[in-house]
Amino acid sequence: PARASNAAARVSVHKPAGARPRPAPTLSEAEDRARRELPVWAGRTELLRELELNDSLIVMAETGSGKTTQIPQFLHEAGFSARGAIAITQPRRVAAITIATRVAREMGCALGTRVGYSVRFDDTTERGVTKLKYITDGMLVREAIADPLLLAYAAVLLDEVHERSVQTDLLCAIVKRAQAERRRALERARRGCGAGGGDGGGVAHGGGAGASPPSPPLKVVVMSATLEMATFSAFFGGAPCVHVRGRSHPVTCFYAAAPLDDYVEAAVTATLQVHCEEAGLRLDAGRDELPARAGDGADGDILVFLTGAEEIEAAAQLLNARARRLPAGCPKLLPCPMYAALSPAAQLRALEPAPRGVRKAILATTIAETSLTVPGVRYVIDSGLTKSRRFHAGKGVDTLQVVPISKAAARQRAGRAGRERAGKCFRLYTEHTFFNELEASAPAEIARANLAAVVLSLKALGVTDVTAFEFVQSPPRAALLAALEHLLVLGALDAKTGALTPTGSLMARMPLEPSYARALLAARAHDCVGPMLTLTAVMSVEGALFVRGGSGGAAGAGEVGARADGAAHDGGGGIAAAHSAADAARARFASQYGDVLTRVHAMGAAHAAGYNADWCRAHGLSKRTLASAERVRRQLCGLWARLVGPLAGAEREAAVLSEDERRGVRRALTAGFFARAAVRQPNGRYVALASREEVAVHPSSVLFSRKAPCVLFQELVLTTKRYIRELTVIDEAWLAELAPDFFDDDERA
Ligand code: ADP
Ligand code: MG
Repeated sequence: PARASNAAARVSVHKPAGARPRPAPTLSEAEDRARRELPVWAGRTELLRELELNDSLIVMAETGSGKTTQIPQFLHEAGFSARGAIAITQPRRVAAITIATRVAREMGCALGTRVGYSVRFDDTTERGVTKLKYITDGMLVREAIADPLLLAYAAVLLDEVHERSVQTDLLCAIVKRAQAERRRALERARRGCGAGGGDGGGVAHGGGAGASPPSPPLKVVVMSATLEMATFSAFFGGAPCVHVRGRSHPVTCFYAAAPLDDYVEAAVTATLQVHCEEAGLRLDAGRDELPARAGDGADGDILVFLTGAEEIEAAAQLLNARARRLPAGCPKLLPCPMYAALSPAAQLRALEPAPRGVRKAILATTIAETSLTVPGVRYVIDSGLTKSRRFHAGKGVDTLQVVPISKAAARQRAGRAGRERAGKCFRLYTEHTFFNELEASAPAEIARANLAAVVLSLKALGVTDVTAFEFVQSPPRAALLAALEHLLVLGALDAKTGALTPTGSLMARMPLEPSYARALLAARAHDCVGPMLTLTAVMSVEGALFVRGGSGGAAGAGEVGARADGAAHDGGGGIAAAHSAADAARARFASQYGDVLTRVHAMGAAHAAGYNADWCRAHGLSKRTLASAERVRRQLCGLWARLVGPLAGAEREAAVLSEDERRGVRRALTAGFFARAAVRQPNGRYVALASREEVAVHPSSVLFSRKAPCVLFQELVLTTKRYIRELTVIDEAWLAELAPDFFDDDERA
């Protein structure tokens, strides 16, 4: 089957002669044997015994030991799922999906039956049927709002806790509280106090606790790939830790001799060098060697850590182009992109073995660091960078930045090369950088994130004073206060009582960022619910919408041959050409009101064309991205009908918006995103109103050469400049009208 990826239309390469075989629905005997040899199997008995004795347990085991795939099955087989499902939380949706798919295979059942996943806009589980539920942490937080005692579950496994995602941190506190409440209810039942219900235990929930028979104690397993677990053990009342020893082989690390300035280019060069002649690298061996054990071999795949979808697609394209110039006789190289926006099927394909005689180059984001294990990797190329969202409380803005990884992350990345035998890791930074510049470990996200969503969830969970809430690690007070203030201005909190308003309560139940939820709800007042549903859907999907139009094969990143006859052609042109082709596709749907409405136009047109594949290709639109947007829109319609009320025709998608609707949409968006407004100065430059900082319109914007006096931006990207992206033209006067508390007099002075 053709690889569905963003690159589909951008990179055209010939299709592999033999399509890669699809995995069988169940594991082969050999695969099952390998599964039973995973390190966690050695700890199975101890783990189950500890969990019988204790409500909470901490499990530490290296990445690839089998924590995520095996431990839930242990619990299930031992009967822990008899009176409720087992939830396994994941910080990343891709991991939740691919791992659930794998575990369903291991258990020999169809996905969505005994094993399922629940991620934003996609729930394949069935209550009462699904026993192992892989769920993103954010989704479980939302479930807890409706079911604070988590009565649907007998056990919650908090996975990837070492990553310290805000939502996982928050979940720790939620499960701890649910656990205590359920214990108390059990005690009461045992003492014969009967099913009295709410005892004012501090949780604002409606009944459930007192229903008979009492729910069993909630078992909590905290799983981590690193050893620094004292914080969590203490948080869960001194929970015991089980440490499973992993099996790892020596990894030799090599460093760049001097700092490199283009990491995509450097990563591609290093990949090709490793591929053809791994000894010939111009990188120096260094001192950060992982513990040694013998082992050697000739082949093995290459795992390249890059920062995001765009860089990965650029690297795939460069690889395709350069592979043509490799010496004859070199084996084939198969670039396999792996990032969140790819379809789950494409993700799974990166995990499957390459055809015989072909080496895979997996081009991945941090996702391959600890959440997903790619079998067969022997070489790691580490850019030393990652993309990170940071919140600047003082300025009220979120930015997406490429930042250096921590030493701990660098070691994790290197470790990926030594899972099966001795490996090598090529760090595209100097040894000096590694030892002297990288932080020991990355700060917990809660210390640097925008907390608006967290505070909204807490309020919905009945926490009145969020500053007194028992977090695993307290967030900066300034960030909490900024979040409260933001929610106040969004109308989610009552200014006098600080309690949730009806709007806030709806916002908390929506699987959307508070600003998007607010904008969507504002559509009611601006008569544009249907168009706003489209807008929210098209802005919520990851992955490029505009791709190269015209020709371009169905293959995404395909096989690249090193033959001199040029059988593998890249369709001509480099990254710049691909970008300008995407810009051309964008221009076809350009709206004078900016990029967001341009996307809505494209989506409406595609809808009218029935998402026809030829039409999409001819118009430079990604059918896959459109299909996900369409799916999200349907989900949002269902959500709206449940939470808000009848849709009054809004479920139908308009091909073309009326001028009134365009105005309505821009006003509704203003109600949610007023904090991201920028105005043009007399000198032609833009200044962001909230931060008073100068920002520049990103060259990809349809408004790049058509500057409007006032715009909203959905994204602020820090590179060489502070770029604003995904713009919408608004009327400056709307700001004061729709967010008077934000734009009071002194702000505007
Ligand atoms: P951990 O959570 O400890 O990092 P996992 O449970 O995710 O480990 O993975 C255990 C092993 O299962 C991995 O080492 C990998 O070899 C194998 N595995 C997991 N998912 C897949 C998959 N989709 N395809 C093939 N092998 C897989
Ligand atoms: Mg795992």
